[in-house]
Amino acid sequence: MKPYKSYTLQNYEQIPQSASLSPEDRHAIEVVGRVLPFKTNNYVTDELIQWDVLQDDPIFTLNFPRRDMLMPEHFGEVEQWLRAGDGPMLSDAIEKIRMELNPNPSGQEHNVPEYNGVRLHGLQHKYRETVLLFPRPGQTCHAYCTFCFRWPQFSGLPDMKFSIKEDYELYIRYIIEHPRVTDILFTGGDPMVMSASLLRAYIEPMLSPAMKQIRNIRIGTKALAYWPYRFTTDEDADDVLRLFDQIIASGKHLSIMGHFNHPVELSTDTVKEAIRRIRSTGAQIRTQSPVLRHINDRPDLWAEMWRRQVELGCIPYYMFVARDTGAKHYFELPIAECQTIFRKAYQKVSGICRTVRGPSMSDHAGKIQILGVNEAGGEKLFVLRFIQGRNPDWVATPFFAKFNPTATWFDQLVPAFGEKEFFFEPELESYLRDALERDKGAY
Ligand SMILES: *Cc1c(COP(=O)(O)O)cnc(C)c1O
Ligand code: SF4
Repeated sequence: MKPYKSYTLQNYEQIPQSASLSPEDRHAIEVVGRVLPFKTNNYVTDELIQWDVLQDDPIFTLNFPRRDMLMPEHFGEVEQWLRAGDGPMLSDAIEKIRMELNPNPSGQEHNVPEYNGVRLHGLQHKYRETVLLFPRPGQTCHAYCTFCFRWPQFSGLPDMKFSIKEDYELYIRYIIEHPRVTDILFTGGDPMVMSASLLRAYIEPMLSPAMKQIRNIRIGTKALAYWPYRFTTDEDADDVLRLFDQIIASGKHLSIMGHFNHPVELSTDTVKEAIRRIRSTGAQIRTQSPVLRHINDRPDLWAEMWRRQVELGCIPYYMFVARDTGAKHYFELPIAECQTIFRKAYQKVSGICRTVRGPSMSDHAGKIQILGVNEAGGEKLFVLRFIQGRNPDWVATPFFAKFNPTATWFDQLVPAFGEKEFFFEPELESYLRDALERDKGAY
């Protein structure tokens, strides 16, 4: 059994390989690590990072704060207050900068419903069939991604945490009263940081006869990439697998939504063994990742990642555009470029890998896929479609935006052909107005 050891701002100097860090690397960690959450562990540092090529190593960039992850003015501000000592001015500056980093992108709070006068803070219900649940003990991860869009979950921004604080029974009743919900997605953070017995406490109620509406249980996790021992040699790894057996035996589908950002994460013996063990329960593993500058902005990396996933028995599922939050300016790519990376990678692989869909932006309205770039009526345009929509009727109908080579998110696009608005906008406005009304009542 490999004992889990986490490294944070407090103890990263104990990483055996930390002699490879230059004074500039350390300074960047000290400054940026105050604003954005920093945590890595001994699997990542021993097995995934190549310490002799740190300046370009994608996994180092994935976990360790780098100077350019903060805007120069933010970096300077934290640096200045740090020099003055660790006082209230420093905390105020950090708090202010965090608020400027758009901690809750895409209006996720609008997806949190109210049930019998109670706000269910650990539930998001945006698409008719699928409910997201945020078990409270699962609101951390085995390591933190520097690009994370859930970073406020880990940063002591208490009002912005999605997590189940209310009686779980209320959640169960909410689901039963929405009989069209067929999918439960346990998410976080990472639910796989929980012990097998805690995980069981959240999942078992879904297997009861009263919940026969539930067809699919999904667990969103980065544990395969960051701590695959969770499924192999951890003390309760076998109990986790027995829970998976039990879900399958109940007649429901179990899908592990595995988050992988780079082919290296699929290369160790431990991750291969973890995948094999999960698959032996009858669970499927579906994979997803955002496309990120400095990490995976090359078609060959994606093609290789999908091929390895398929080889190991995983199903490529989503490529996302990184959300506008945290260190977005460091990782972002124009959506036109994301589409090129997707298209070129997709062209390289066989049909078996082409279960993947993307690149997709999770915006207020839904999951919007950039299908491609083309011309019509003498105008260059993006062809888009909803993979998921706040209104299911929006899904799978192509629509068009004026081509924009620098846009990095949907809100920077305008409709093609000089139209005033996208077809779904009037309806979306009324959804959001209703959500705002509801919010006013709740606080
Ligand atoms: C992606 C997503 C889902 C799941 O959508 P599928 O298309 O079923 O994978 C559910 N809820 C939210 C908020 C999502 O972003
Ligand atoms: S594993 Fe997911 S939730 Fe955790 S830090 Fe990475 S992106 Fe964020």
